[in-house]
Amino acid sequence: MPQETGSGYSRPMKIVTWSVAASAVAAALTHALAVTPALAGDRREAGRHEHGSGELRVAIDGNDVEVELEGPAANFIGFEYQPSTAAEQQALDSALATLREPGQVLSWPAAAGCQLVSAEVTPPDYGDDEENGDHDGHDDDSHAGDQGHSEIAALYAYRCSKPGSLDALRVLVFERFPQTERLDASVAAPGGQTGATLTPAAAVLKLRP
Ligand SMILES: [Zn+2]
Repeated sequence: MPQETGSGYSRPMKIVTWSVAASAVAAALTHALAVTPALAGDRREAGRHEHGSGELRVAIDGNDVEVELEGPAANFIGFEYQPSTAAEQQALDSALATLREPGQVLSWPAAAGCQLVSAEVTPPDYGDDEENGDHDGHDDDSHAGDQGHSEIAALYAYRCSKPGSLDALRVLVFERFPQTERLDASVAAPGGQTGATLTPAAAVLKLRP
C-alpha cells in the first residue's frame, strides 16, 4: 500500500480516500496504545523508524566536533501524536528542554576541552502545521499523512581545544530517555570511520578505531 500519494485528499475517489484515512487513524490508535508501556516493543517500521532505536552520528574534524542524535519521538516522550493534554505537552517541552542542554545527554572527556558552540533541536513534525492555524477541521485526515509517527532530532556543535584527548564519548541518552533502548552510532574522524551499537549497558562510544 502506498504510504503517501501526496494529493490524495483532493481526488474525487472519496471511498478510497476515506479507507486510507480510516486505516491510518486505526493504525495511529493501535500505535498509541502499543507504545504506552515503556518496552512494549512496537517494532513496526516506517523506513528506518523503529521504536526504541535511534541514531547517533559523531564527526570530528580538527577542533570541530558535530553530533547528530535522532530517533522516533516515542523514544523521548513515549508517544508520537501531537500533544493534546497539558501533561503530554509538558512531556514534550521537558524532553526538548533536556535535549537543548547537551550536557544532559553527552559527556566528553574533560581533557579534550570541548565547548558547546550550538545546539539545535528539531521537534516532532506532525505533518500538519498547527501553528499556521490552517485547519479546516481535517483533524482525522491530518493523521493519514503522518501515520501517527514522528521523530525528534538534535544537532550539536562543539569546539574542542585538545581533540587529541577525544578518546570516548559517554552517552547519557539512555538515562535521560529510558525508552531509548539502542543507538546505532557512527564516528567519522581523521583516523577513519567507526561504528558501534550503544545500549544502556554499553553507553560509551569509542571515538578512535
Ligand atoms: Zn513511530
